[in-house]
Parts: sequence; structure tokens; C-alpha cells
Amino acid sequence: MISVLPWQASSWQRVRALITDGKMPHGILLAGPSESGKGNFAAGLGKYLLCRGQEKPCGECRQCNLVAAGTHPDLLTVTLEDAKQIRIEQIRELIHWATQSSQQGGYKVCTIDPADKLNTQSANALLKVLEEPPPNTLICLVSDQPTRLLPTLRSRCQRIDLGSPSQQEAVVWLQGQMDPSADVELLLGIAGGMPLRVLNSIDEDYLKLRQELASHLVPLSEGVRSPMEVAALMAKEEVGRVLELLYQLVSDSITFTLSGGKVVRNRDLSEVIELYSSMTPVSERYALLDHISEARGQLNGTSNPNGQMLLEGVFVKVG
Ligand SMILES: [Zn+2]
Repeated sequence: MISVLPWQASSWQRVRALITDGKMPHGILLAGPSESGKGNFAAGLGKYLLCRGQEKPCGECRQCNLVAAGTHPDLLTVTLEDAKQIRIEQIRELIHWATQSSQQGGYKVCTIDPADKLNTQSANALLKVLEEPPPNTLICLVSDQPTRLLPTLRSRCQRIDLGSPSQQEAVVWLQGQMDPSADVELLLGIAGGMPLRVLNSIDEDYLKLRQELASHLVPLSEGVRSPMEVAALMAKEEVGRVLELLYQLVSDSITFTLSGGKVVRNRDLSEVIELYSSMTPVSERYALLDHISEARGQLNGTSNPNGQMLLEGVFVKVG
């Protein structure tokens, strides 16, 4: 049995039925929210397809050992290297790999993650492989933004939606992973309900940055602290993370106003959120969310913007 996350159990059953019935397609698209465990699912599927043991993955056969060591020649992962897109050279390597016969005489599995970062050129090259797929080869596209994929590429793949956990599933699962003293519900709120995110990203530095950013919110809004000053301070941090945290705080403050006084996510910061909410009209806060989204888009784009100036532009709108 592979270690399927509880909220992916039904998708896994569906995939396993396809394999058992010999109906596994050559291309699948694993779709689901960011950090919901799609990579986990893809890795489990790879292990399952390559294992030669009885109870797959057995963890004992030669195939399983090669997978565990990260050296299985019939398992390939294509991901972002240093660039912001998956380059054509990477897909050429994939094609070369796919056209060679399987070295271990079984399945060949390739995962492309995040598949929405294929550029037009690399997507078109990949399309050719999917149109004439080599036998016993699975190309597994992983994406949290599947609509960004080339439609022709999408239509060549069977889509499997992996979904995200319910609040209760997430709490129970996370409690099993963390120290009993952890405030699982608060952490889960901060992580937008994504338990893997709690484990992967919400560390002490993250929480410290969040506190610091929250401490600037009211002074910025009052005009006591200048946007330039705060931007200079915050630009020393990971700018994408600052923008993400600010987005959360502002969203929470909007929810606070609309729900008549309930802090949903950052409940330990409810004092700051309440004060900030009382100082700024909700329409301005919505506009601020748009600015933050735009700044995040620029940061993830190809133009390499100056982080400090990006933050300045956003903090000006807080005041
Ligand atoms: Zn095995």
C-alpha cells in the first residue's frame, strides 16, 4: 500500500482500478490546490508502477531500492531548475529518455511538476510524445493551475482531481504528525487549511516574519511609519513571502469586517486585525488585495522586478 494521504484515498482507488484493468492512459494530469500533496501522490504512483513485489510497493525488491535511492533509471522527474519555466532542453532530454526501452524491463514513469510552467515550445515538444507514446510509459503532469496548460496537452491526458482535505481531516492528520503541544488549528488557519504547508513552510522564521509584518500594519495605516521605511526593512526578507503574509492579514481583516467581528485565520493577531479593520474602509482593503496580487504576479513573472520597490508600491496603499 502506498502512503496515500487520507483526502486522496478515493483518487488513488480510481487510479489503481485503471492499472488493474489495464486501462492506465499514457498521460495523466494530477490537478489540485497548491501544497495539497499532488507530488506525494505522483511519487506513490511511480513506486507502485515500478515495484515487482506482491504488496506494491513492497519496499524490498530491487526496483523499490532503486526508487528509494533516487537512482531508478526508469523514473524521471522534470521540474523547474533555476529558470522560471520548464525549458525545451529538459523536454528534449525527456524525449530521449522516453524513446529508449525500459532499463529494468517494466514501466517507465515521468513526472512533470509544475506542468503549468512548460513554455509554448516545451509544451509542443511534449505533445508529440503524448501523441505517439512509447509503450509502458506514463507521463504524469502535475499542476495546481491546470487551465494554464496548453488545451491540446490537456486533452491528451486523463485528468485526476486530487482535491484538498476537509478541516477535520486536516486537523486529525496533522495531529498525528506534530508534537502534541502544537496549536494545530491555529497553524492550519495560517496555512490556509493545507496541512502539508504547515509542515513544509510554517517554521519559526515564518511566524516571526508574520508577527513583524503585522506590527507594521497599524503604524502604516496611521501614517506614523512611512511605506519606504517599512519596505526597506521587509525587503531583507523573502519578498514573495512578505506579500503572501500581507495578503493573508488583509483578507482576514476583510472577513473580520464582513462577518461582524470574527478572525478566521490569524486569530492570535486578532487585536491588530481589529484595529486595522476599524481604520480602513473595506473597499480600500479590497483594492489593496488587488495590488498585492498584482505585485505577486510581477514577482513570479519573467521581468525580475526590484523587490523593495514592489513592496513600497504595496505599502503605500496600506496607508
Ligand atoms: Zn518493491
